[in-house]
Amino acid sequence: MRIETLAVHAGHTTDPSTGAVAPPIHLSTTFEREGDGSFRGGHTYGRSSNPNRTSLELSLSALEQGVTALAYSSGSAATLAILQSLSPGDHVVAPSDAYYGTLRQLHEIFAGWGLVCDTVDMTDLTAVERAMRPTTRIVWCETPSNPMVRVVDIARIAELAHAAGARCVVDNTWATPVLQQPLALGADLVMHSTTKYLGGHSDVTSGAIVARQDDDFVERLRLMQRVGGAVPSPFDCWLVLRGIRTLPWRMRAHCANAMAVARFLEQHSSIEAVHYPGLPSHDGHEIAARQMSDFGGMMSIQVRGGEAKALGLAARLKLFTRATSLGGTESLIEHRASVEGPTTATPVNLLRISVGLEHPDDLIEDLAAALS
Ligand SMILES: *Cc1c(COP(=O)(O)O)cnc(C)c1O
Repeated sequence: MRIETLAVHAGHTTDPSTGAVAPPIHLSTTFEREGDGSFRGGHTYGRSSNPNRTSLELSLSALEQGVTALAYSSGSAATLAILQSLSPGDHVVAPSDAYYGTLRQLHEIFAGWGLVCDTVDMTDLTAVERAMRPTTRIVWCETPSNPMVRVVDIARIAELAHAAGARCVVDNTWATPVLQQPLALGADLVMHSTTKYLGGHSDVTSGAIVARQDDDFVERLRLMQRVGGAVPSPFDCWLVLRGIRTLPWRMRAHCANAMAVARFLEQHSSIEAVHYPGLPSHDGHEIAARQMSDFGGMMSIQVRGGEAKALGLAARLKLFTRATSLGGTESLIEHRASVEGPTTATPVNLLRISVGLEHPDDLIEDLAAALS
């Protein structure tokens, strides 16, 4: 079945008790035991499982072509569960430009628990190969990456990970399963901040992991979810699943709008660089064209004249909201260097843009006015 159909139907059945077509939200934290000790719907207690969470997990698993999915209370909680499933002394290879929260977990939480980490430029496969150790358990990748929108060859990274006896994890938040399917490319686990495109409306914080096979490591992830307890609420699950119904169609518009905006900005004399994998000038364009079905709604730009010019542009825009995050219906713009602090490697004239679902001509007119 095609992804548009899966998005509408996977994890969805008409409610058997009422005939309701839209799923009811099951707030009950506890479920009745039958006289023989069994449970009618398979649910016992809300932390362990919940009907809304099960529906969401079935949907996520189908979208990513996985065998099982686990929903968490945020993308960061999903990342934390993966790293918590490792043992002291284990080694992780991560991209030097990974989502900064992922790097903070590695450096500020897990280093103290004996997890060893090396960060490398993942576009350099030799560097990835050199970083491997006998104790490497996870090779983490994120593509397109934040905030430079670099593109990493998932199939090659997965091969390198497997040759070293490690698992390849892909943070697929930016691309979504609509544009990129890491498990089919050889990755073992996909991690999502469903807060972003999957939720799609900037109104729910949640995360997930999808696995290619259900093995001992996935059993650990399940332990972290059910016993660790960082689970999304039933309403959170309901909102993400509702977002997923329209995901494939929203992604088409995000991609088309971003391409139009990128083309406009690329030819503008006040813009020094546009980082968008859909542009043939982008370093990762060829890999992106091979492993993605389209190029996504995220880009970053560097404004000619430095930090003040970048901040000035962001301040003059009317349709782009100055806010962090991404993947909602509204366009957002953010000066990443201010968010990441004084130690950041992000250029100070860089603005990250999440292109929303407004008409592209309105977005371009807004940018043109702010740049003039
Ligand atoms: C937002 C984000 C995360 C973290 O997810 P939260 O839901 O905010 O915890 C991780 N990776 C990427 C690429 C993100 O954009």
